[in-house]
Parts: sequence; structure tokens; C-alpha cells
Amino acid sequence: MPGRRVTVAGLGVSGIPAAEVLAALGARVTVVDGGDSERHRAQAAPLEALGVAVRLGDGATLPEGTELIVTSPGWKPTSALFTAAEAAGVEVWGDVELAWRLRGAAAAPWLAVTGTNGKTTTVQMLASILDAAGLRTAAVGNIGTPVLDVVLSDEPYDVLAVELSSYQLHWAPSVRPHSAAVLNLAPDHLDWHGSMAAYAADKGRIYEGNTVACVYNLADPATEALVREADVEEGCRAIGFGLGSPRPSELGVVDGILVDRAFAPERHTSAQELAEISDVNPPAPHNIANALAAAALARAFGVQPAAVRDGLRAFRPDAHRIAHAGTVDDVTYIDDSKATNTHAAEASLAAYEHIVWIAGGLAKGATFDGLVTGAAKRLRGVVLIGADRALIGEALARHAPEVPVVDLDRTDTGAMAAAVRAARDLAHPGDTVLLAPACASMDMFANYNVRGDAFAEAVRDLRAPGTGQ
Ligand code: ADP
Repeated sequence: MPGRRVTVAGLGVSGIPAAEVLAALGARVTVVDGGDSERHRAQAAPLEALGVAVRLGDGATLPEGTELIVTSPGWKPTSALFTAAEAAGVEVWGDVELAWRLRGAAAAPWLAVTGTNGKTTTVQMLASILDAAGLRTAAVGNIGTPVLDVVLSDEPYDVLAVELSSYQLHWAPSVRPHSAAVLNLAPDHLDWHGSMAAYAADKGRIYEGNTVACVYNLADPATEALVREADVEEGCRAIGFGLGSPRPSELGVVDGILVDRAFAPERHTSAQELAEISDVNPPAPHNIANALAAAALARAFGVQPAAVRDGLRAFRPDAHRIAHAGTVDDVTYIDDSKATNTHAAEASLAAYEHIVWIAGGLAKGATFDGLVTGAAKRLRGVVLIGADRALIGEALARHAPEVPVVDLDRTDTGAMAAAVRAARDLAHPGDTVLLAPACASMDMFANYNVRGDAFAEAVRDLRAPGTGQ
């Protein structure tokens, strides 16, 4: 790197550490960003003190003499900067690619996870299992801690649990995990990737060069297709996971027990018991699938069955992912605010029998017919909120016309409390009120955390009414 002219695209969570590392390695670094706000200038100052040039207000022009671009994952491949880079024959790496090129597998083997939904949960379960096995590990990547941080730290790791988004994979052509899993594939972020095929191809990159196991979802043939297309190391195996009884080279479930017929020595004649369904938190079907994927990666790394069980028992899900917000008058309130797309909402709607569903927000181009058709039988009622609620309302009218719908035409701060009260009025004893919006939150809330907090607070208010209207 010394003396190399590197342009970092994006002054943000991945661009700043990338610029710092590159500068420390002696590269001549320019950070470019189309924005030029107070925040940008405040973030630029410490970098400039390190000798990094920061160009704000122009993210499109390729700085003179650029030999390499290191981009933040969010930048679209069609951005003008990359068109200019291509014309000039300049390579583009993401922050994950940079980490891999600088140290890669020399830091520790990577067990990598991608998928449309469940990545964070699965990576956390995996880290918990590795931890229970006594291994020095960290959950990194899209989950929050940049891979670059741990790869370059002095701390020795035995193995890393790495969450990779489709954007990161797009910009990480030479990453070669020890083993990897694609949890599922449903349309998402298509505006960024350009098409479903391009999105799938980027996700599929995670299997490239795997050495021990490519883990795929038996219920999602698109994930198996990606394994078939991948170029892996000799001897690397395809391992399926699913909720049924497993065949050899699969992990599955038998009589409430998570079992392994992939890595157990006697796999051709018997299955190895790993954990009970009740060890998985929460034991919803999609989450059992996540646990099996995490177990498969851990077992591929040689982790013993008892550590899989202990790691799953120790795992606590992050907030707003099927979190129990309270039980009032025998009605259970569940906060799955993180269900920001239809695929995630479908999973949580499948987990309960009688549901009053709170849905809506920003649809991001999604359609809701499939989701509503699949859930129709379970719906006691629906409360619609947010900018694109009419899209869900129309799908309900088409596929579940008998289900009562409350259309909440308000976006003020008290709107969630009103939605929760409306849901309570629709619910029968024993039902579940489920916030699984299938939409992004930004039309009404700063983010899905704030949306989930508003829901939880409204549930608390049902018990001890406060002042919120
Ligand atoms: P990601 O990191 O991929 O966004 P999370 O673990 O944060 O995934 O979960 C996101 C949302 O997806 C949550 O609402 C959760 O209920 C749902 N979800 C989790 N795992 C799955 C799965 N295997 N299939 C479908 N939906 C899932």
C-alpha cells in the first residue's frame, strides 16, 4: 500500500475505518462523498489530521491518479464514480475485500452467512456456539463491527462469524470462507442490484472457494442452485438444512430434536443429537432453520454437539425480532419490527395461529398478494399504518375480504398507540397481536428500533394507561 493512490468512496461507518487503515499503511488516500453537511465536515476533520484528503459535495468525479477505489457497500454499482473507474481500468474493492486482501484467512478462518433474512440472528447464534466451544471468536461484518477492525487487531482469533450483505459480497470478489451458508433468497434490494439474477449471483459469491462446507436451505432450492454453480475447493461438501427428518449430508429435526447427519461419524446409519427445539430462542420455525444453519457451520468447523446445545441455549435475540412485548388480558403482543420486508413478515406470520396483524409503512416496491394469501386463514384482524398501507389493504380486499381491517390514517407520534388499541379491540383471548410490518419504517419513525419501541410502550400503556393518545 505505501504510496498507492487510493480513493475511498463514502465517508461513513465503513469508509472511515478503511481510510484510517489505508493511511496508516502509507497509502495516499482521498475520501469522496456527495454530501457536504455539518456531520460530514465533523467526520472529515480527524481524517484530515491523519493526512487524508477529503472531498465533499462530489462523489462522482474520479480523483486524478486514482489507482484503487475502496467503496462503502451502499454505493450502487451504477454510480458515476465506478463508470469512470471502469473506463480508467481502476479496480473497486469493498471494505470486506480490503480486509481480506490485507490479512484474510491469515487472521482466522471465516464462517460466513448471507441470505435475505436471518443473517444477524444466525451469525449471533453461531458466535454463541463457537464461544461455548471455547473458541476465541467475534461476530463481525454487516452485523456492526467492521471485518477490518478484527482482521487487523492484535488479538488472536480462532475463527470469525461473518455476516455478509449482498452489497458487501458484490464488492468482495476474492473472499474465500472456510464454510458459508445462504439462508434464503427472496426479492430485496433489487433497485441496487438491477435484477433478481444479479442479486442471487452476488449472494452466491459467498460459496466461492469454500474449503469444508457450502450450507444451503432445503426449503429454498435457489440456495442449492447457488452451491451447484460455485467453484469450491476439492473435497468441500454441500450440506442441506431443513425442518424435516434429515438424509445423509443434512441437518434437520426429528421428534423435536435438532439432529446432524452431515458431520456425525455414523451419518449413514444414524443421526447425532444436537439440541432440543426448546433450546432455540424463540422456537419459531424460521428461527429453528437459522439455528440449524448456525449448527451446520459450527459442525463444519469441528465443534462438538454439546457446544451447539450450550451455545443455542445461551443465545438471546436482538431487540425487535419476535420480541415478547407483553401479555394483556390473555392476548400476547409480539414486536417483530425488524420484519421490514414481506419475506420476513411471512416467517413471523407463520409462527402464530390466531393473529391480529399490525402492518404497513414504506413498501419499497413490494407487492403483498402472496403474503396475504399465505396468512389469510390465521388473521383475526388487521390494523394498517403508514404511507403504503393501501397496497396491503388492496391485497387483503382481494384475498381475505372477510378479515376485518382498521385503516389508521394518521402518522403522528400517537399513531402506534392507536394501532395497538385497535388491535386489542380486534383480538380474542389466546390471540397474538403481531407487529410485523413487511415494510420499512422511515415514513413514520427514525428506524425500525424506534417503531418497535413505540409498540412496546403502547403495550405497556394498555396495562397501565399513560397519557399517550
Ligand atoms: P438480517 O440480518 O438478515 O436482516 P435478522 O436476523 O436481523 O436478519 O432478522 C430480520 C427479520 O427477518 C426479522 O424480522 C426476523 O423475524 C426475520 N427472519 C429471521 N430469520 C428468518 C428466516 N430464516 N426466514 C425468514 N425470516 C426470517
